[in-house]
Amino acid sequence: MMKCIRLTGPGQISVEETEIPEISDSEILVKVMSAAICGTDIRMMRSGSARKDNGEPLILGHEVSGVIAKTGSRVRGFSEGMRVAVAPNMGCGVCRFCVSGNTHLCNEYKAFGINIDGGFAEYMRIPQEAVNQGNLIQISNNVSFDEAAVNEPFSCAYNGFTQYGVFPGDRVLIIGAGPIGLMHAKLAGMAGASKVMIHDLSEDRLEQCKNIDPSFITLGADGLKQRVLDETDNEGLDVCVTACPSPSAQADSFDMMGMGGRINFFGGLPKDKEIVPINTNMIHYKQLVVTGSTRSSISQFRKTLKFVSDGIVKVDDLVTGRFRIDEADAAFRKAANAEGIKTLFYFD
Ligand SMILES: [Zn+2]
Ligand SMILES: [Zn+2]
Repeated sequence: MMKCIRLTGPGQISVEETEIPEISDSEILVKVMSAAICGTDIRMMRSGSARKDNGEPLILGHEVSGVIAKTGSRVRGFSEGMRVAVAPNMGCGVCRFCVSGNTHLCNEYKAFGINIDGGFAEYMRIPQEAVNQGNLIQISNNVSFDEAAVNEPFSCAYNGFTQYGVFPGDRVLIIGAGPIGLMHAKLAGMAGASKVMIHDLSEDRLEQCKNIDPSFITLGADGLKQRVLDETDNEGLDVCVTACPSPSAQADSFDMMGMGGRINFFGGLPKDKEIVPINTNMIHYKQLVVTGSTRSSISQFRKTLKFVSDGIVKVDDLVTGRFRIDEADAAFRKAANAEGIKTLFYFD
C-alpha cells in the first residue's frame, strides 16, 4: 500500500491509503522523492472539479521528481535506481503540435496531476506514451530532487520567456512576486536585463525577492507607473510579465510600456474575470507585442533542467516549505495563503 493525496471535492483533499500502481510491460513505476504544490493545485482544490478521465478522484501533483522503482520488461534506456525528473504533459503523439515537439499544445493533452494520477503519492505510474515521448529525464547527481521538481514551473516560465524575449539592457517589470514571478525575474537577469523590477502588493513577498537577489528592484503599491518611469529614463518598459491572476494588472501594463515593448500574460484569469478592457491604441501607437503562454514543452523542460545542472541559475532558494505527505492540510494551507515561496512534499 502507499499514501497519496486525492482531490475529493470542492475545498477537499484527503490523505488516503491506496494500492501501489501496477505497471505493464511498457511502463515505469517511479518512487516519488519530491513534489511541489502549484497555484494550479490550489485552484483545482478550491473548485474540486478536476477528475480523472474515468471520473474517479484524482491524485494531484504535476511538479515531480523521483527514483525509478521498476521498469516494464519492454522498456529500454531506463533502469531501476535512476534519478529522474518527470515532465507532466503528454500529447497524442501524432498531431502537428505533437510532431513539432509541442505535446503541451495537443488537443488531446493529458498531464500528471491534472487528468491522470500525479505525484502527491509515494509511487506513480508512468504510462507508455510518457515513456515514449521523453517525459522522464535522468537528472545528474548535482541536481537535487527538490530542484528537479521545481524545474517544472521554471520550464513554464521559460516557455513564456521564449515568447517575449529579454535582450541585454532591457528594462523588465514582473507583476506578481510569487514563485512564477521570481522565475521570470531570474530568467530576465540571466538574459542581461539592465533592470529587473518586481511589483507586488505584499511587502513580505517583496522582501523575499530582495533576499533571493538584492539586485531586484522591488516596487510596492504606491505610484507604480511613476516609479517605472523613474527607473527607465521616462521611456517605459521593454518587457512586462503579469505573473498573477489579476485583470487590472493586465490592463495597467499597457500604460507602462515603452515603444516596441513586449508583454506576456503569463498568469491566467479567473473564469468570471476573463474580459479585460484595454486601450488597443496603445498596442498600435507603441508598436507593442502582446504574448501569452501556457505549460511547457518537454524540450523546454530539459533546457531549464540543464540550466540548473550547469549551475547558471539557482532554483533551490525558491523552496521555503517542506512537508511530509501526512501534513497535506498544513502544506496546502501554507501554499493557499501564499506564505513563503514554494511549498513541496518530500519523501524518504
Ligand atoms: Zn504547476
Ligand atoms: Zn497531439
